[in-house]
Amino acid sequence: MLELTEEEQLIKQFVGALAEKYGRSYWLACSREGRFTEELWAELAAGGYLGMLVPQEYGGAGLGMKEMAVLLEEMGNQGIPLLLLVVSSVMDVTLIAKHGTEEQKKRYLPALATGRERACFAITEPTAGSNSFRIETLARRDGDSYLLSGQKAFITGANEVDYIMMVTRTTPFDEAEDKREGLSLFLVDPRSAGVELTQQDTQILHPERQFTIFLDDVRVPRESLVGREGMGARYLFDALNPERISAAALGVGLGRYVLGKAVSYARERVVFDVPIGAHQGLQHPMAIAKTHLELAALMARQAATTFDKGGSAGPYSNMAKFAAAEAAIEACDLAIEVHGGAGFTGEMDIITLWPLIRMLRTAPVSREMILNYIGEHVLGLPRSY
Ligand SMILES: Cc1cc2nc3c(=O)[nH]c(=O)nc-3n(C[C@H](O)[C@H](O)[C@H](O)COP(=O)(O)OP(=O)(O)OC[C@H]3O[C@@H](n4cnc5c(N)ncnc54)[C@H](O)[C@@H]3O)c2cc1C
Repeated sequence: MLELTEEEQLIKQFVGALAEKYGRSYWLACSREGRFTEELWAELAAGGYLGMLVPQEYGGAGLGMKEMAVLLEEMGNQGIPLLLLVVSSVMDVTLIAKHGTEEQKKRYLPALATGRERACFAITEPTAGSNSFRIETLARRDGDSYLLSGQKAFITGANEVDYIMMVTRTTPFDEAEDKREGLSLFLVDPRSAGVELTQQDTQILHPERQFTIFLDDVRVPRESLVGREGMGARYLFDALNPERISAAALGVGLGRYVLGKAVSYARERVVFDVPIGAHQGLQHPMAIAKTHLELAALMARQAATTFDKGGSAGPYSNMAKFAAAEAAIEACDLAIEVHGGAGFTGEMDIITLWPLIRMLRTAPVSREMILNYIGEHVLGLPRSY
């Protein structure tokens, strides 16, 4: 529906071809077997899509969030979304490209762009939760290296990656003059001695799983420190808007996908001699859900455009993430309603989408933290927490 550039149309066509080749059934089979979508990932790599945000001098396409959002949205539209794409190809690439040393850019960006390597992102901790400044994972200098100790939770795809972008404290919270100081980012090999991954029992049908990560004096070389010690919080802010735009794009796509299933069913299912879609009790909510999805799509596109132009993308990115998550949840709930009892069967593949879509209200950032941002930074109201 949105006007797309020629390049964006090509991205859509590429995902359409992928969906035709692999399809939702492949994605579902990988999800059920807990198998990474290796083949799909390889195709994304071969097409140059993992390196969309990687600058051209490091082997990427040098494109922006506007194009990346088209890719993510279309993967959602086709029912084949990948969460690792958001962390590896959006967040980690952005952090390294913006703040890595020249050696790090040369070392990691071409590998991430070609799919030779991939990475996940670890900030969440069981105790700190949404209050990221309170993380306790500590990195201590020890000669030419650092020793990392602590615990992370809900880390998506940690078993499938070559590196974990690990958010740590190099100055404990209580010793920092300013809570925003003293955070540092490290690229940690999950196979390092002292790293222990444990799969979590997240009941979300999706190819990638979540893991707790225990770090027990994990030795990492100094070169693994991304950018400068203690500057991590500032760096992170550069990755948060792209993360929110990505979540919004996935939400819009998934919402469209599930609403599309509801509309098809509502056209065909006849009860009381008419298709159930003829009843306004179902038709109007579907029309409202469609409107909410397309409004969210517009907001996400505006957020991406503002981000790419170097503008202040926080307000649009947060509002887009909020709007897309809520619109997708509305669409999925409605799709269950439209399908009646059939909505609860695995065969219909509607209820299977619910945990993933519902998760978008909670992660990567919760609805409440988004509203806190809008309340404080957009409306100028007093900080509520
Ligand atoms: C499937 C999945 C994948 C994930 N992948 C990753 C990943 O790859 N990497 C990673 O680092 N993390 C990941 N996460 C973690 C995710 O980012 C967090 O779950 C999310 O940010 C919420 O944090 P929390 O779970 O600690 O909730 P809490 O912070 O404990 O919050 C619980 C509830 O309290 C509310 N709340 C807390 N503080 C406030 C406040 N000040 N005002 C109003 N309400 C408040 C929250 O909004 C929420 O509703 C993932 C989570 C899931 C479920």
